[in-house]
Amino acid sequence: MHVLVLGAGPTGLVTAMVLAKEGHRVTVVDQDPPPPVGGPDRVFADWKRPGVGQFSVAHILLPAGYGRLRHELPDVVDQVLERGGRPHNVIAGALRLMPQGAAEPDDARFATVAARRPVLEAALLAAADHTDGVTVRRGTRARGLRTEVPSGAGVPHVTGLVLDEGEHLSADLVVAASGRSDIAALFPEVGRQPRHIERGWRYYTRHFRSSDGGAAPHMPWPLHHHNSVSIVVVPGDSDTWSVSLVTSDRDQGLRGLAREEAWHRAIALYPGPAPWAKGEQVGAAVAMGGVRSTRRQLVCAGRPLVTGLVALGDAWATTNPQFGLGMTAGILHAGLLRDVLRETDVRDPVELALRFAADTERQLEPLRAGLARWDTYRWAEIDADIRGEVHHCDDEGWIQHVVGRTGGLQDAAVMRAMGEIGFLLVDPATAMSKPGLTARFTELAAGAPRYAEGPDRGELLAAVG
Ligand SMILES: Cc1cc2nc3c(=O)[nH]c(=O)nc-3n(C[C@H](O)[C@H](O)[C@H](O)COP(=O)(O)OP(=O)(O)OC[C@H]3O[C@@H](n4cnc5c(N)ncnc54)[C@H](O)[C@@H]3O)c2cc1C
Repeated sequence: MHVLVLGAGPTGLVTAMVLAKEGHRVTVVDQDPPPPVGGPDRVFADWKRPGVGQFSVAHILLPAGYGRLRHELPDVVDQVLERGGRPHNVIAGALRLMPQGAAEPDDARFATVAARRPVLEAALLAAADHTDGVTVRRGTRARGLRTEVPSGAGVPHVTGLVLDEGEHLSADLVVAASGRSDIAALFPEVGRQPRHIERGWRYYTRHFRSSDGGAAPHMPWPLHHHNSVSIVVVPGDSDTWSVSLVTSDRDQGLRGLAREEAWHRAIALYPGPAPWAKGEQVGAAVAMGGVRSTRRQLVCAGRPLVTGLVALGDAWATTNPQFGLGMTAGILHAGLLRDVLRETDVRDPVELALRFAADTERQLEPLRAGLARWDTYRWAEIDADIRGEVHHCDDEGWIQHVVGRTGGLQDAAVMRAMGEIGFLLVDPATAMSKPGLTARFTELAAGAPRYAEGPDRGELLAAVG
């Protein structure tokens, strides 16, 4: 079988490698150029990827995604490590800050590899280039789908891609791994059902390295929520790390965070993450707005809009990036497609479309929907911050989150449960089923502040200026 993959981001490359290992021939096309030759700092500074707006923003690979790669595509992990990637345990830093925070043997499940996004992608590309059956064509833009309407089927069947230069590529299956760009703009065939779009987030990211040449400090818990902003601190390769301030896209008052002095004055107000903003800055600061959660369905009301085409990773759905789900969702989606293709004949395209949609709905949709629900409450909380009010909400899941985000970091067992849920190692019900855990949550709820230590909105606005 020949599979065409549109997009050589993490989802497209992992899909290509996973399917090639099944014996399929895979061609990947991507409009962006290949990475420059050189070390990780050169790749980070000079690889321009106009097709991926968030390319230079902080990225962390969740332990669930890392575990899949290590198990199924170990060459990728080796390539990341060769490029300065660092083994990283996502709870180790937070455990160090706890009196009863001794490591336990099965904390190895919280392992991942830390690398800046361009470095991680260069490693994925190198691994794909070494994989028999995979051909990656860079600098190649697709401008449309090749389709036919088989008699009696009633919906278009995709048979390949039309490239910008007019070249036609044919395939038994086309995989859209084209990221946040709306596939309906390219392929009107899939545009009949409008894409569901939520409101968005705005990122203000800076990368750092120790100014005295020393190793990076131990990373704390990666995500903290405060009045009006969330702060994400994640490690990178080659002793780098990044700090991001995340606001609601609608928060005009904090747009000044794009300015260097304002960003530094603001981060200095947060005792937890402030030390991580004291290094030497690496590369340019990035301010990115319009980070929206989206969802596209190619099967509606039990009927495919199109056959011969599946959408994976961000081309299927995008979620709030603070939780770092994106790349891991793409990796899981690639495995899901592989499993569907093992059991479904590509010559029965309607069955393939239905089965892929059903499995996506069962395995990935709950993760997307959970984060979309979280966004709704967090936006309401930030809107209340902006109005100077305290947000109230009766949703039990949200109340548990508010307790966990400050209180949970005082207790190793609660923190491990939060890590298992947040890093996608087990489902929430399983994580919370451990004896005594719910009672401990309730105990912590009594004294837990709403937000991690930091300024109120007035102080923050004064610092931003
Ligand atoms: C601010 C921000 C922070 C994030 N942080 C994290 C994080 O910490 N951890 C995490 O896991 N995820 C994070 N994400 C999400 C992550 O970036 C995405 O989930 C990931 O990029 C999805 O990979 P993908 O391969 O599906 O799509 P992409 O990486 O977007 O790749 C799509 C590719 O398709 C190409 N393409 C599109 N159209 C065409 C065409 N017509 N012809 C040829 N090529 C085309 C594009 O050029 C691009 O190379 C973050 C996202 C944002 C916005």
